[in-house]
Parts: sequence; C-alpha cells; structure tokens
Amino acid sequence: MGLQATTPVLIALYDQHDRLRYANAAFRSAYHIAADETPTWAEIMRRNHLAQRGTVLKTDDVEAWISATASRRGKIPFRTVETDLHDGRWLWMTETVDQKGWMLCIAVDITNVRAEERKLRQDRDFALRASQVDELTSAPNRRYTMERLAEFVQNCAENPHMWGCVAIIDIDYFKAINDRYGHHRGDEVLLDFARQMQSFVRRSDCFGRIGGEEFMLILPDTTVSEANLILDRLLDKVRSSRPLANIPEFCYTCSVGLAEYREGDAVRDIYSRADEALYLAKREGRDRVKRYTLPGSDPDLSPDQAP
Ligand code: GH3
Ligand code: MG
Ligand code: MG
Repeated sequence: MGLQATTPVLIALYDQHDRLRYANAAFRSAYHIAADETPTWAEIMRRNHLAQRGTVLKTDDVEAWISATASRRGKIPFRTVETDLHDGRWLWMTETVDQKGWMLCIAVDITNVRAEERKLRQDRDFALRASQVDELTSAPNRRYTMERLAEFVQNCAENPHMWGCVAIIDIDYFKAINDRYGHHRGDEVLLDFARQMQSFVRRSDCFGRIGGEEFMLILPDTTVSEANLILDRLLDKVRSSRPLANIPEFCYTCSVGLAEYREGDAVRDIYSRADEALYLAKREGRDRVKRYTLPGSDPDLSPDQAP
C-alpha cells in the first residue's frame, strides 16, 4: 500500500471540469466520499453543506456560494486557503493548477498550529475575497478580471504556443431597461446575465464584471472562430432568457466585441481592439458578436475601418 493511502495529508486531484479523479483515504474521509465515487467539487460542497459536514460554509445560500467560489476556482496556478471543517479540524489547503485546468489539492491539518492567529488569518482570506468579487453578481470584479487579463497577456508574450481571445460583452439599451422598469429590475437583469454566462465559462477562462453593464470573458487557448461560436451561443441563451418573474414577456440582448491576442500586445492593445469591435457591434444594430481582425482576413473590422 502506497504512502498516500496511509498519510494524514489530504490529497485530491480534480480534472478541468472540476470532477474528482483521485483522492486518498484522508481526503475521502474528511469530505465523506466513498472509495468508488468521483463527484464534482460542487456536488461535494452541496451535499456536505446539507449534511453539515466537510467544510464549514458561512452562507445561507449554498448555490450562490458555490457559483461565486467556482468563478474564481482554479484560475491561478497556485494558491493557499485556510478552512475549518465541521468536525472541528482546521486545514491549510494548497491548490496547484496546470495549464489544462487540472487541480491538485493538498491539505494538512493545522488544528494545533498557532491557533490564536487563526481568526486573523481567516479574516484576511475573507477580506481578500471581498476585494475580488462584485457584490451584486458575485462574479469576479474589475480588479480581479484585469489582473487575469494582465496574466493572460503576459503568458502569451512569454510562450509562443499560447494564444487566445478577449471578449467585452455589454448589455444593450440597459439605461432604457432601468428607466422603464426601475433600477432594481435592472439589477435583476445583471444577475440573470451573470447566471446565463456561467455555463459558458470553462475552467481556464475568466469571466468578470468590469463596469456597470459591461463584462469581460478571457478565453485562453481559443481561436477567434471558436470564441465566436461560444459567444453566439451565449447571445442565443440571453435572447431567450425571461429574467423578470412578474413581467414574463420581458427580454433583453447584449453585444460582444471580440479580439485575438497578437504578438507584442500590451493589455491596453487587446482591450481597446475588443472595445472597438464592441463599438461596431453596437453601431451595426446590437445583439451580435463582432471580431476585430487583420485587414483583408475578415470583413468584420480592419484597423483602417476602426473608429
Ligand atoms: P448600449 O446599448 O449602447 O450599450 O446602451 P446602454 O443604455 O446599455 O448604455 P449606457 O452606457 O448609456 O447606459 C448604461 C446604464 O447602466 C447607465 C447606468 O445607470 C446603468 N447601470 C450601471 N451600473 C448599474 C447597476 O449596478 N445597476 C443598474 N440597475 N444599473 C446600472
Ligand atoms: Mg449597454
Ligand atoms: Mg456600457
């Protein structure tokens, strides 16, 4: 029997869809997972929360907690968190993520380590979370998203085999929605949009709210055509959404500007190309995806046409 089976260290491996692919006995015991089970991370969190075991989640709304946490989970190559378990143990957990989105979790029991500073450390983790999350939608906020964009651009610059796209998504006629139905209903539309978006965001992507009704999706390892397909499907989904319960006929749309990473790009270069493409999508009638492309390669938008 290997050491990993007998060590008290918790070891788990999740794939890019956040499904558990391996967990040793210590991990399975802490999170109440049978030896033959391969649940997703969300399933583990959900059922343990209902049974009041596993990680202590300080929330009344477990689904909101899961989606907010999932939107930042596995987006950075390495991080550590401190968590407490319902059984009274404290764990120091490390998360290491590879380029394909697989995540290795290793946790050690620190129940007896510097207990007096524990509260301080956990407060720090909560404050960190608050600085990364948009309060209304629980999506990553502008600061967090821009940090991911800077990382993406840096990765592309340093690795010739890395590329990808950035999309800016803006809800159409949002001011009119607010004016007609009220600010509160407008907020519901923003929440609905963030929710619709969730099923399109892969582990290696980052999605965040970068302004009032403006969002960004970073798509590493994705060609413009692939990104265009994904975003067209998002537009379909948004178009058919009916977010206001008491106004069942209400619907809304959004527009997308899409830009591909180009060698030598700084953050502001790819950002402003996506923004220019968005401007064109608005000008051409909204509810569409526009890509910013090289002159001659695509009729959508070439730099000499750019506004
Ligand atoms: P376009 O189709 O060209 O994008 O038009 P628009 O009306 O969506 O764009 P505009 O920039 O004119 O208006 C955006 C509005 O979004 C104005 C602002 O009051 C509103 N807004 C910004 N943040 C929030 C928010 O958190 N909640 C609500 N309800 N409204 C917000
Ligand atoms: Mg708008
Ligand atoms: Mg806007």
